Amino acid sequence: LSAPPRRPIRELPDELISQIAAGEVVERPASVVRELVDNALDAGANQITVRLLAGGVRLITVEDDGGGIPPGELAIALKRHATSKIASLQELESVATMGFRGEALAAINSVAELTLLSRSADQATAFMLDGRTGEIQPAARGPGTTVEVKELFFSTPARRKFLKTDATELAHCIDAVRRHALARPEVGFAIWHEGKLVEQWRACGKDGTVTSDDADEAAGSRAFDQRLADVLGADFITASVAVDYRGRDASGRAIRVRGRAGVPDTARSRADQQFSYVNGRYVRDKVLTHAARSAYEDVLHGQRQPVYALHIEIDPTRVDVNVHPTKIEVRFRDSREVHQAVRHALEDALAAPRAQAAVSGDI
Ligand code: ADP
Ligand code: MG
Repeated sequence: LSAPPRRPIRELPDELISQIAAGEVVERPASVVRELVDNALDAGANQITVRLLAGGVRLITVEDDGGGIPPGELAIALKRHATSKIASLQELESVATMGFRGEALAAINSVAELTLLSRSADQATAFMLDGRTGEIQPAARGPGTTVEVKELFFSTPARRKFLKTDATELAHCIDAVRRHALARPEVGFAIWHEGKLVEQWRACGKDGTVTSDDADEAAGSRAFDQRLADVLGADFITASVAVDYRGRDASGRAIRVRGRAGVPDTARSRADQQFSYVNGRYVRDKVLTHAARSAYEDVLHGQRQPVYALHIEIDPTRVDVNVHPTKIEVRFRDSREVHQAVRHALEDALAAPRAQAAVSGDI
């Protein structure tokens, strides 16, 4: 047996490092859409418009009316690990923005042709940065940012081969925006494909942030319900019950679970209408799905999957969002406290008279 010829250890070229790192962040057009919409939300946008060609493979543009990027910072926005959102470990531990890793734009720029067009509130004109050449030019635009991403994976054909049909990629892009839309009813969203408007969810007034003001709260939950109806259909509201639970975590701080849960009749064969959010971030998490399933245990048979949209508000220091580059997974400091809160929240909601009526077939 002969050992394979050994090659000396070398540092990889910068471009290859970026392309390797991009593999974790950008899997398909929908990953780009998700990251760009995250950025628009972090910038305080009220309206976000997504335009796609060929399911996003040929072109993705995301346009917002948020705070914008000053011209002097456009180039650094495309660098790896460059972010305006955190500056210390302490800030990471209580991060409230969607982004914080400073990776998305760099990753996208290494696997597609990216241009960044932005006008910050204090600028009289917009500036456009070409991600490939690094050239910056004055351009026309109202305040806000437009990111254009062309020819995804043009330089990495192996990756491009993994993409599915345009229709499938489009469906994933729409899913990505839908998840954001359910969390942020106060923001308007529109999705265009091949020049046609395919989805539009108008801004619905007050946001759902917790305040001491009851009127604000009521307006907040009306906005959430309105958005749920717009996104998932009016039937979702009539066939679901409100969830609103307040508990305490192990250290005595508030933990809250709000949203809506479908009555047992609405359960599906697939788990494709289960939306959970932790502090406004869409997450997929076994603890949450297990807690939800166990709350439905007595009323659902076989493999039926409940439908729900749940917003969990928890002290940010009790959840680690820096687990995976896509931030779709989180780690709870004490998963039991979260499991219990979600389970109780759903059990209480399902025990309410309206849900009981549905169980016994009266509605
Ligand atoms: P992160 O979101 O983790 O900070 P990104 O690579 O997604 O990293 O973005 C880098 C930086 O560029 C952000 O921190 C932000 O300052 C700026 N930026 C990106 N997109 C926008 C946008 N739509 N509006 C305003 N600023 C943006
Ligand atoms: Mg980001």
